[in-house]
Amino acid sequence: MSRNRLSTFVAALCFGLLVASAAAAQDRASVTVGRYRLQSNPWVNLHQRLLYEAAFKWDKPPAGLSGEQLKQWAKAVEDYRAYVGRRNPIFNDELIRLNTALSGTNTDRLPASVPTAAQKVLEAAMPLYRAAQWEEDDRANRFWIAVAEPLLASAGEELAEAHAKVYGVPFPKRILVDVTSFGWQFGAYTVGEGESAHAVIASTDKGTQGFGALESLMHEPSHAIVGADEGAIGSELKRLSAETGLRPMANLWHAILFYTSGELTRRALARRGVADYRPFILDMYGRGFSGFRTSLETHWQAYLDGKVSREDALRQILIETAPPPKK
Ligand SMILES: [Zn+2]
Repeated sequence: MSRNRLSTFVAALCFGLLVASAAAAQDRASVTVGRYRLQSNPWVNLHQRLLYEAAFKWDKPPAGLSGEQLKQWAKAVEDYRAYVGRRNPIFNDELIRLNTALSGTNTDRLPASVPTAAQKVLEAAMPLYRAAQWEEDDRANRFWIAVAEPLLASAGEELAEAHAKVYGVPFPKRILVDVTSFGWQFGAYTVGEGESAHAVIASTDKGTQGFGALESLMHEPSHAIVGADEGAIGSELKRLSAETGLRPMANLWHAILFYTSGELTRRALARRGVADYRPFILDMYGRGFSGFRTSLETHWQAYLDGKVSREDALRQILIETAPPPKK
């Protein structure tokens, strides 16, 4: 082999390896980055899809189904609606355990810990799901994971530490993220508390895509440490409420969580040359968070900038946003 041909051969070999490793990177159903593990699991995806169709009467079965299969799918949705009832996967213990069990299942048969009623529907629907929808869902999930991985590798630990500093408690150490095409009502939710968090994040939700993936990967696990009247923020609001006699608006704690992850993510991205990141909360003021904006941008921002204490910021926000006490 001449020198020239050898270098062509080496170049071709390198290119081949490059292509192979790029394909492998896009292909991964599961990735671990620091404290995070992201995965695309067919059982969790099927469960979340049936749950969404059942609970929100979203009548859009997998496009590839027709005839008898379509009837079988409709039956599965109906049976799942009967099984789930009015229960909420964020608060109901059985549904939380079910999602956890599915998340750990990599075989065709479900473990015995899955309640029989759910197991029957899921195992009956899985062949339909695999034939008509899973490939498309899994492709979107894997792409989302491939986008999220380098964001976390670069900024994940920095942001986890920044959140811990703001809240005064450690950020969760073990964070499992199931990437799906549906994530209950708002496209993402988290269960767990303290050191471990289990999040479901929809890869198809516009808000969680691109750099938004980084904010959602910070926002979701924050739910394991921040609460309405306990944990970070919640317990402080509770104490300040007793001190002032004012009751905070029911979603104030969540607005503070939104603001915090949005602002810390914006900063981390700005430090990396991304100047125009738009935190999620900017689209929430017109909806559930109207009335909070000025107080958060004044007092919580001052706290995040190190100009006032957390307690003083929260007290001012409470005073300015609490509904007038009933006489
Ligand atoms: Zn949230």
